[in-house]
Amino acid sequence: MIPFNKPYICGKELWNIAQAHANGVMAGDGSFTKQCNEWLEQRTGCHKALLTHSCTAALEMAAILADIQPGDEVIMPSYTFVSTANAVVLRGGVPVFVDIRPDTLNIDETLIEAAITPRTRAIVPVHYAGVGCEMDTIMDIAQRHNLLVIEDAAQGVMATYKGKALGSIGHLGTLSFHETKNIISGEGGALLINDPKLAERAEIIREKGTNRSQFFRGQVDKYTWVDIGSSYLPGEIIAAFLMAQMENAESITEQRLDLWKHYHDALGSLESAGRLRRPVIPESCQHNAHMYYILLDSLETRTALMAKLKEQGVNSVFHYVPLHSAPAGLKYGRVHGIMTHTEDLSERLLRLPLWVGLTREQQERIVRYVSLER
Ligand SMILES: *Cc1c(COP(=O)(O)O)cnc(C)c1O
Repeated sequence: MIPFNKPYICGKELWNIAQAHANGVMAGDGSFTKQCNEWLEQRTGCHKALLTHSCTAALEMAAILADIQPGDEVIMPSYTFVSTANAVVLRGGVPVFVDIRPDTLNIDETLIEAAITPRTRAIVPVHYAGVGCEMDTIMDIAQRHNLLVIEDAAQGVMATYKGKALGSIGHLGTLSFHETKNIISGEGGALLINDPKLAERAEIIREKGTNRSQFFRGQVDKYTWVDIGSSYLPGEIIAAFLMAQMENAESITEQRLDLWKHYHDALGSLESAGRLRRPVIPESCQHNAHMYYILLDSLETRTALMAKLKEQGVNSVFHYVPLHSAPAGLKYGRVHGIMTHTEDLSERLLRLPLWVGLTREQQERIVRYVSLER
């Protein structure tokens, strides 16, 4: 059986966890959390990075920081994970879904401006498969309409757009270290704060609405409840595990890119023959090989291929059910325009196994099964 995903371990993770215990700090914001935050700040160039217990948590913090009020609207793709929309709905806001681009499956930046109303507060571009959205255009629209940009860079660690790290371009960015992502801690995430004006409040929201972080820096002489907030910080065990992964981030990314490229080269002739479409990476983007997907000609073809791969012991998976058509999406969200590409592509996309440790022989087998006439 070739699994779709297999969590990678570099080697030092468990040693680091023992170290966290030996340090005498098991709760959050100990030395491993600080090291992870510093790694993110250096790596991405963001103003401040705060480790969270998930990307979902980071998105919820971002929605609070964006000051989303009941009825406020946030523009996002429908082809995304539920957390992108949930974060807004939890504040009483309304996700406004627009269609995606057929090449990258990212939000179609040319549709954003028409979806803006007096209630619009923010735009959430989602960098699908670690391939950057058209951020120059999005930032320009946001600036002209005085909107906040929150990048959902859950899949984007180590990837760049025009040389800038994904998550470091908008006012806020969010990353995930879930076991299905490139760099992992089981569950885990981070909020990247690029607008310095939001940094102080972000710390407070993350620490249950208290000014505890300022207290520990000696900036206030007692700590107290000053704002709304929750517990968004991970414990040191998570950070200890994650730090070992961060130290190997280059090598993990290189190995994933090598696997990605092998699929891409091996499937080129099938694309030429019109049997499938391969991912498109724009000139301006350096991706991180988060995912290798193929687009088939119909839902029927996809269902048949998935079943055939399963028979051969290969676990391939489709991806998002568009949020605008999901029960909660219908209840809490709203569509702007038509969703042609979202509906079409979501039915035809299939993701192939890609994880560090997948062998060439296994990849060859997968490519062979995909190539067989159906
Ligand atoms: C994985 C993912 C999330 C959620 O990340 P968690 O760390 O599991 O909360 C959010 N958005 C996108 C686009 C994702 O791929």
